[in-house]
Amino acid sequence: MKSSSTTKATVKKSPRKSPKTKVVKKAAVKKTPAKVTKKTPGKNKEIKHKPNPSLRTSQAIKDGAVTGIKRHPLGHLLLEKQLREQGFRGNILCDAHTLHKFSTDESIFSIKPQMVLQPRTVADVQIAVRVVAEQVKYFPSLSLTPRAAGTGLGGGSLTDSIVIDVCEYLHDIEQVEVKKGSVTITCEAGAMWRDVERRLRRHDAYLPPYPSSKDLCSIGGSVANNAAGSDSLRYGHASDWVESMEVVLKDGNIYEIKPLSYKEFVKISKEKHEYARILREVWNLIQKHEKTINANHPETRKNTAGYDLWHTLNTSVSRFKKGEGTFNLGRLIAGGQGTVGIITKVTMRALPIQHHTTLIAIPVFDLEDAAAVITKALEFNPINIELFDGLSYELALQNPDFFKQFLSGLKYYRVMLAMYGTFHVRYKSRMPEFTFLITLDEETITKHPLPQVLAAISTDRTRARAITNPYEIEALWQVRRASYSLSKLQNPNRHPAAFLEDMVVPPEHLSKFFLEIKQLFREFRVTAAVHGHGGDGHFHFYPLLDFTKSNTALLIEKMSDRFFKTAVKYHGNICGEHNDGIIRTPHLGKIFSQKMIRVFEELEHIFDPDDIFNPGKKVNPRFDIKTSIRKVN
Ligand SMILES: Cc1cc2nc3c(=O)[nH]c(=O)nc-3n(C[C@H](O)[C@H](O)[C@H](O)COP(=O)(O)OP(=O)(O)OC[C@H]3O[C@@H](n4cnc5c(N)ncnc54)[C@H](O)[C@@H]3O)c2cc1C
Repeated sequence: MKSSSTTKATVKKSPRKSPKTKVVKKAAVKKTPAKVTKKTPGKNKEIKHKPNPSLRTSQAIKDGAVTGIKRHPLGHLLLEKQLREQGFRGNILCDAHTLHKFSTDESIFSIKPQMVLQPRTVADVQIAVRVVAEQVKYFPSLSLTPRAAGTGLGGGSLTDSIVIDVCEYLHDIEQVEVKKGSVTITCEAGAMWRDVERRLRRHDAYLPPYPSSKDLCSIGGSVANNAAGSDSLRYGHASDWVESMEVVLKDGNIYEIKPLSYKEFVKISKEKHEYARILREVWNLIQKHEKTINANHPETRKNTAGYDLWHTLNTSVSRFKKGEGTFNLGRLIAGGQGTVGIITKVTMRALPIQHHTTLIAIPVFDLEDAAAVITKALEFNPINIELFDGLSYELALQNPDFFKQFLSGLKYYRVMLAMYGTFHVRYKSRMPEFTFLITLDEETITKHPLPQVLAAISTDRTRARAITNPYEIEALWQVRRASYSLSKLQNPNRHPAAFLEDMVVPPEHLSKFFLEIKQLFREFRVTAAVHGHGGDGHFHFYPLLDFTKSNTALLIEKMSDRFFKTAVKYHGNICGEHNDGIIRTPHLGKIFSQKMIRVFEELEHIFDPDDIFNPGKKVNPRFDIKTSIRKVN
């Protein structure tokens, strides 16, 4: 167990009765006195309502699904008083500008919160959790939705209750530790990925699961979403790199959560605190439903749908009891989208930056070649296999000025020259369906001579080529990275909509899947620029839609249904890395059995029986997709 210096500092500085963080020397647990919760409603004259806990049960939410649960705006108004009385020192914001700002993220939704909290310290987070946990008995619509940089694409950070913004103040990078050549970094949840990356660069290291949004997003948000990116083909999701994390659970205490051996698990689970209770109950759940969990294992390598029960125990129940493997609740909190607790601190492992890599580009003119190219390339253990489609390339060629925001001076002209040169000279002005970019490391090239690799990946119809011109390398990556933004340039009256953007199929089905998807786009008369992580069979489709039209919401519902069913038909998944959020939670029954959905519900209930953490995401959908969709482009 560790104690947080930030929390201690808060105690000293707090002018009011802020909770003192007491070091508890057992079970890696930080305990704080229960002052906050004890003080609440009894002594407070304003609050005399009878508790109505039934409204907060999973069943009540199920009954109220889509139509929404009963709301009680008064609860939010009284909350400010409660929070201040308990020593909350951060910002408590209810002004129109703030509520408007926090009513959108990068998703297709717009939902106005009642209040935005910006905790100054971890103690503030604890106070917020305790106050809401207490007040929810009286005001059932209260809940806390953590928000970091707000770049999520599924609406995970949106709520009609309280947002708790961890980025404003909780963004310290505490330490980089270098031990026997391995590097770890510890930071607060709101630390931005780009700042962590900059700090790690001093040690020639980086975090391998970096998402494409790494310049915009935070570490805590990425762990809570279990984000992934280009290099995830080889290195997996964010959660694979988390060594430990500190989390505020529903009792308002902070717990350090990390993988436990069987011995450690037995010891801690006998203790008397919230983490121990959750450990015991999750263990029982896994034992009881091991078969169901295994039977519902997604076939795709990437997955952020549901709770990651497949990695919580990294061995079987019987083997764990014999002392093998580890049990890690962190695997449920990472990817849990703030539905099970609030992450306050994360320690992640880093890797040395790979300096000597080789980029291979291969244009695929015939979709039937796509699966073969990827399957072959995978044999060489690439760091990544990325793709962008013909429409993205076409838009790049039509809009050279777009790249001026990223490139300047002579470099801009050289990169543009390379971009046009590749198309007109190399491809003889014929637009490929896809361009694949494959990165190999030095070790692979030493083991397999480059000509041998190129020959293996090439097909009768297209040839793979190692790119040595740095401007051509830059041009190809620029197009790959710009695909989403470029798609906006097609029509200023439409907006690229994130709802089909996270489908993934096993790569061997990629060609057939994509052909069928193209047909569906034609049927719905919608265009979409496509890019993605080819090696994982992971496509980001962003159809261009007009959100001012009244029938767009219905179109989104119909398209989601048809497209998601198509992904499932090809043994795929609807949620590779962007997580369930509002958009995919109602569709989880397409990829998981009803029994598995019940297991997820039970799991969430173990952590959060009163649904104070981000309700309506991952389980028990409660936001009406039609009425929550934004109305502007
Ligand atoms: C242009 C663009 C490109 C993108 N590319 C990628 C990509 O390559 N890969 C990828 O995975 N994603 C991608 N995304 C989606 C998104 O950027 C990532 O998932 C990112 O990691 C989210 O981080 P954030 O800080 O913005 O989190 P937010 O969006 O603020 O939050 C994400 C979720 O985590 C919860 N949460 C936030 N903080 C906490 C906390 N402290 N404790 C508990 N729960 C918390 C929120 O409630 C929400 O459900 C992209 C988005 C955009 C706009």
